[in-house]
Amino acid sequence: MPDVTPVPLSRMTTLRTGGTPARLIDAATTDELVTVLRDTWASGDEWLVLGGGSNLFVGDEPFDGTVVRVRTTGIEWMPSSRPGFVRVRVQAGHSWDDLCAYAVARGLAGMEAMSGIPGTVGAAPVQNIGAYGQEISQTLVEVELLDESTAEVSTVPASELGLGFRTSVFKQHYGSAPLRPAVILTVTFELAEVGHGEREVVGAQLRAALGLRPGEAVSLAWIRDHVLAVRRAKGMVLDDADPDTYSAGSFFQNAVVSPSFARTLPDECPRWPLAPDVDPVTIIPLAAYDGVVPAPASVESDVKVSAAWLIEHSGLRKGFKLPQSRAALSTKHALALTNRGGGTAEELAELARFIQGRVQSEFGLVLQPEPVLVGVEL
Ligand SMILES: Cc1cc2nc3c(=O)[nH]c(=O)nc-3n(C[C@H](O)[C@H](O)[C@H](O)COP(=O)(O)OP(=O)(O)OC[C@H]3O[C@@H](n4cnc5c(N)ncnc54)[C@H](O)[C@@H]3O)c2cc1C
Repeated sequence: MPDVTPVPLSRMTTLRTGGTPARLIDAATTDELVTVLRDTWASGDEWLVLGGGSNLFVGDEPFDGTVVRVRTTGIEWMPSSRPGFVRVRVQAGHSWDDLCAYAVARGLAGMEAMSGIPGTVGAAPVQNIGAYGQEISQTLVEVELLDESTAEVSTVPASELGLGFRTSVFKQHYGSAPLRPAVILTVTFELAEVGHGEREVVGAQLRAALGLRPGEAVSLAWIRDHVLAVRRAKGMVLDDADPDTYSAGSFFQNAVVSPSFARTLPDECPRWPLAPDVDPVTIIPLAAYDGVVPAPASVESDVKVSAAWLIEHSGLRKGFKLPQSRAALSTKHALALTNRGGGTAEELAELARFIQGRVQSEFGLVLQPEPVLVGVEL
C-alpha cells in the first residue's frame, strides 16, 4: 500500500490545524482507494478520508487512525440522452477548480459560478458546494461510491444523496455522524453545451455579485474570470501569500430560519428564499392552458439569512481577534475564521464560541459551523 510518512494534519488542511495521524496513505488510483478503505474498515481502525482539507476543522491531538488522501484524477466524456447536454465523469481526487476551468474552456455551462472553490470533486457532493446561487445539485447526475457498511461499490443517483443547503447524506454535522458513511469514487455531471458566445446570465444572486444588469449578456469565460476576481478580493481563493485564506472558507453557515423568525431580525439583514436561485419559469401543461397564466402560489418557504451580517452587527468587525490569540476573523470577510500563523485548533474554537455567543445574545440564534469537525468541539 502507498503508505507515506505521517505529517501533521495542520500541513494538509487549509485552516492549518490538526495533529499527526497514526497512518497516512495516498491513493492514486480507484483500485488503490478501494483496497485501502476495505483493509482499514476490516481492521476496525478510525479513519478519515481527505481531499484538499479545505472544509475540515481538526483538533490539536494526534489522530489515532488512518488518513486516506484521495489522489485520483481524470475526466471522462459520456453521452447524454438530453439534446444539447454532455456528461462528464470525474475522479474523486480531481481538483474542483481544474474541472471548472475545463468545462468553461469547452463551452460547458453549469459550474462557472463555482470557479475558485478549493478542494476536490469527490468532496463537492458532501456539502453540495455552491456559490452565487449555483450549486452542484443543479448538475449532479450520480456518484459512484464505496459504502462502509457493505464495502461494496455502487452507483447512486443524485436524488438519493439528500442534497440540501450545504449538506448531504455524507456530511458529518457538528455532533452528528454522517447518515451514509461512504467514500465517493467518481462524480458524474450533466452540463449544457452553450459554447463560447455571450448569453444572458441566469440567477439574480450571480448577476448582483458580478454587477450585471438583467438581460446583460456575457460569456462563460467572462463569468469565470470575474467570479475569481470577486472571490480573490474576499480572500476566498487559496493563496499562500494571503493569510486571509488560511481558513475553511465560511466558518459559519448562513442561518436557515422560519419566515416568522426572519421577521424578528432587522430589515437590513440580507436574506434569501431557501429555494434555488433561478429565474422563475411557469410550466403549464398544454392541455391545461386556457390562455391565462396563473399567479405564482404564495407558499412561504424558510429563509436563509446572512451569517456575515449577523456577526458584523453583533459588534465584531473584520479582523477581530481575542487577546493573545493567533485566530482572527478574516480582514476581508466576516464569515471566515483564519489562522494567522501557528494558531491552534483550540484558539480557533475559542474564537468560534465567542462569535456564537455574541450572535446568540444579540439576535437569538446559534450559528452552526460549516466545516466538518474532527477531534474538536465548539
Ligand atoms: C478559501 C475557501 C473558500 C471556500 N469557498 C467555498 C464556497 O464558495 N462554497 C462552498 O460550498 N464551499 C467553500 N469552501 C469549502 C470547501 O472548499 C468545499 O467544501 C470543498 O468541497 C472541500 O473539498 P476538500 O477536497 O478540500 O474536502 P476536505 O476538506 O478534504 O473534506 C471535507 C469533508 O469531505 C469528506 N470527503 C473528502 N473527500 C471525500 C470523498 N471522496 N468521499 C467522501 N467524503 C469525502 C472528508 O472526510 C470531510 O468530511 C471554501 C473553502 C476555503 C478554504
